[in-house]
Amino acid sequence: MVPIPFLQRLHQTLLPDYNRRAAVFWWLTVSAGSVGIAWALWSLARSPADQVGQVVTGILLAVAAAFFPIVLPRTKSAFSAGEVFIFMLLLLHGTHAAMLAAAAEAAVASSRVSKRWSSRIASPAMCALSIGVAGTLLQLVLAHLDSIGLRSSAVVAIATLWAAIVQFLINSVLVSSQLRLKRGERPTWSDVAGNFGVTAAVNAASACAAAMMAITFHATGLSTILVVGPPLALLLAILHAFFKQQEANRTIAEANAQAARREAEITVQHLQEMHHIAFHDALTGLPNRRRFVEELAKVVQRAVDDPQHGFAVMFLDFDRFKFINDSLGHAAGDEFLQLVAKRIASRVRPDDLVARLGGDEFALLLRRAQPEQGVVELATRIQEAVSQPYRVAGTEITSSASIGITVSTHGYDKPGDVLRDADIAMYRAKATGKARHVLFDSTMHTEIARRMRLEGDLRRAIADGALEVAYQPILDLGDERLLGFEALARWTHPEFGTIAPLEFIAIAEESSLVVQITDLVLARACADLRRWHAQAPHWTGLRLHVNISDKDVAQRNLPQRIRSVLFEAALRPEHLVLELTEVILMRRLTTEGQVLEELRQFGVGLSIDDFGMGYSSLAHLSSLPIDSLKIDRSFIDGLTTRPTDAAIVRTILDLGRSLGRQVVAEGIETPAQLAALRALGCTTGQGYQLSAPLTAQAVDLLLERMDLRGAHSLADGLADPARLFH
Ligand code: C2E
Ligand code: MG
Ligand code: MG
Repeated sequence: MVPIPFLQRLHQTLLPDYNRRAAVFWWLTVSAGSVGIAWALWSLARSPADQVGQVVTGILLAVAAAFFPIVLPRTKSAFSAGEVFIFMLLLLHGTHAAMLAAAAEAAVASSRVSKRWSSRIASPAMCALSIGVAGTLLQLVLAHLDSIGLRSSAVVAIATLWAAIVQFLINSVLVSSQLRLKRGERPTWSDVAGNFGVTAAVNAASACAAAMMAITFHATGLSTILVVGPPLALLLAILHAFFKQQEANRTIAEANAQAARREAEITVQHLQEMHHIAFHDALTGLPNRRRFVEELAKVVQRAVDDPQHGFAVMFLDFDRFKFINDSLGHAAGDEFLQLVAKRIASRVRPDDLVARLGGDEFALLLRRAQPEQGVVELATRIQEAVSQPYRVAGTEITSSASIGITVSTHGYDKPGDVLRDADIAMYRAKATGKARHVLFDSTMHTEIARRMRLEGDLRRAIADGALEVAYQPILDLGDERLLGFEALARWTHPEFGTIAPLEFIAIAEESSLVVQITDLVLARACADLRRWHAQAPHWTGLRLHVNISDKDVAQRNLPQRIRSVLFEAALRPEHLVLELTEVILMRRLTTEGQVLEELRQFGVGLSIDDFGMGYSSLAHLSSLPIDSLKIDRSFIDGLTTRPTDAAIVRTILDLGRSLGRQVVAEGIETPAQLAALRALGCTTGQGYQLSAPLTAQAVDLLLERMDLRGAHSLADGLADPARLFH
């Protein structure tokens, strides 16, 4: 398009982003403007010297004014006092003078607002062209008015005003066309109309003022201009400063408003974060108890308003979480909970809410009405999902959940009641064998009420020393020689009668009362054993087995407690065997292991109770600080009827032999079981077949009788079944 290499390079530098049409327009405008300016210069060169002086002065004044544009607040429009000089030059010296002034003024103004040379060049060219056309038209009109004798000051002023409007229009068309073409759009008249505002009016007024000044100049010479000029310049300067200040104020106000908006945004964001923290569990990212109760409250209210809107709540508790935490550490426990949370969340509908209530407790809110069957099926699916193996801390583990379920048909009006009942049902699930789900029914309330009553009564019974201790003989299965006793707590409730130890020990374990029970049993049993030792020299070998709980091992002072109770009863450590469950023993690997180690060093015997029911890894067994294993009652129960149980008993006996640990069989109920154990080489045992647990007085009597008869077989001593504890 541009043949000459220099112009091509110029084109590249000036208009790299111009499309073809925009570039053609630019080059045409600039060329036409340049021709106009060249003609104007040529015309000026031919003018008389005094006129050249005036023209140059006018141009310089227009240029000077361009340095102080009056920017109209809230618009992008500006005008400069230069317009007045341009139109004065037009009227006094002709179009060429005005073109030069307009081009010079535009060059300064555009350099101030634009960094692009394409604009800095096009702008003077456009101004020269627009004033050139408008000026020529004005000259023609004025010449015509002259010829018909209509020229007067007012007519000149009006004609100049119109010339200013024409000039503004032409300039607007050129500028907006250039912009539109550059954006690849078609120029529109509405652009020009849109521009035609305050600036056009100010331009027209400037032209009018210029006309008046030109007329005055004609009539009175330079003097009036010199008098009017300075106040006019002052007025314009004040306007310039005033508008500039206004613009600055506006910019500050806008910046402030923006800062305030940003601050508000940050506050909202912060609030949202706080809200998230307050209503979510940090570990799993699931909603927390607070959020769950809030949502549950809404759903309960909805069901109160319209019983058609049924809902269901599930309460989940993991059966082996404590074990995972204890044996693999808390980091593994956390990892497990995260995996579990994902599995549960992936099994429910988007409408349901899964929350972590704390520890290993999760809750599910099924917001939509569901038939009970659907809820139970979902519980089964969740149970299946969570019982798949997990990989945690490099180890594969399995777990299961006990789930309590309640549904809106119980007519709840408080979210707390819903959670309470789901919790009760969950407890029932745990108590009836774990890894199952139980639907709440209202009879469970009676159970809970009993439980709470028992807890209070148990506390009182302990304080009053109303608990008793029963002693179940432990015998050598070969010759039925008495080796010692297992001390078992007994509680006779004033109203409910005998309470099974499994029931009250479970209550005591939950409320930490169990530590006081241990102390009570230990103190009584040690004192009794001491008495029995004193009865005859051959009884000094009798040992005492005492059950201790998880909560006891968690107490750092357990070894001191044991030491002082033995000291008080003047017994030696080897007279005492502590029975612990497998889970407690696994703690040897963690913090509380120290307590067990200390006890063992002291010389107290340690035995694993209910062996085979827990999770003891056989690999760990050889390194555990224990000296005996007690085969769980359930295996003895099936010993003569279930081959698998017989195999397990045999394996445990082999294990004991190869690890050098004594094996005790508990719960021997029949002669057949006793015979089978003897045949398998089991040397030690206890059970109703041999003797039920006895009161202390019954043991006193038993030992006396055995001494009297010189018998060492228990059967000879046992009589008076009324004194026995069952
Ligand atoms: P355990 O330590 O395994 O105690 C043996 C349980 O088996 C005793 O139940 C005993 O009465 C029962 N038993 C004995 N021989 C037979 C038999 O031939 N057949 C059957 N079916 N059962 C037999 P008990 O006294 O009801 O105690 C139950 C559990 O309560 C105990 O199981 C122990 O874990 C816990 N426990 C009892 N007393 C205490 C205590 O003082 N402290 C703690 N921490 N736990 C205790
Ligand atoms: Mg026991
Ligand atoms: Mg046991």
